[in-house]
Amino acid sequence: MAGKVSTELRRLTAERAHFCCEYCLLPQDFATHRHEPDHIVPVQHGGASESDNLAFACFSCNRYKGPNVGSYDPLTGEFTPFFNPRTKQWRYHFRFVGATIEGVTPEGRVTAKILRFNDDDRVAERRLLIQARLYPST
Ligand SMILES: [Zn+2]
Repeated sequence: MAGKVSTELRRLTAERAHFCCEYCLLPQDFATHRHEPDHIVPVQHGGASESDNLAFACFSCNRYKGPNVGSYDPLTGEFTPFFNPRTKQWRYHFRFVGATIEGVTPEGRVTAKILRFNDDDRVAERRLLIQARLYPST
């Protein structure tokens, strides 16, 4: 991954997100791999390693997002940028249906699809956390 993020900026990004993934809301404490700062606009697309362009992301969300900036909305076919946690509010773009996270806007739909929020193993993990009242923690 290109783009150096200082230790201080990593800490600030994690604290701002209350140590939860800003895409799927998974708390870092229950993740197998450590959450990472995600470049909302990837470095190769000109995104800077600055606070306004960083989101705290779990390993899965960060890997599936990769260098992408958006995708085609499955409903309309329109190219749509991903949900931006710095400028948008999660609750207006997603909703829970049980342990599944549904995108309710074009940004929400492309983000849920490409970041694979609802892969079987992720839904199963979420279901256990919900039953234990450990998720969502926001
Ligand atoms: Zn995530």
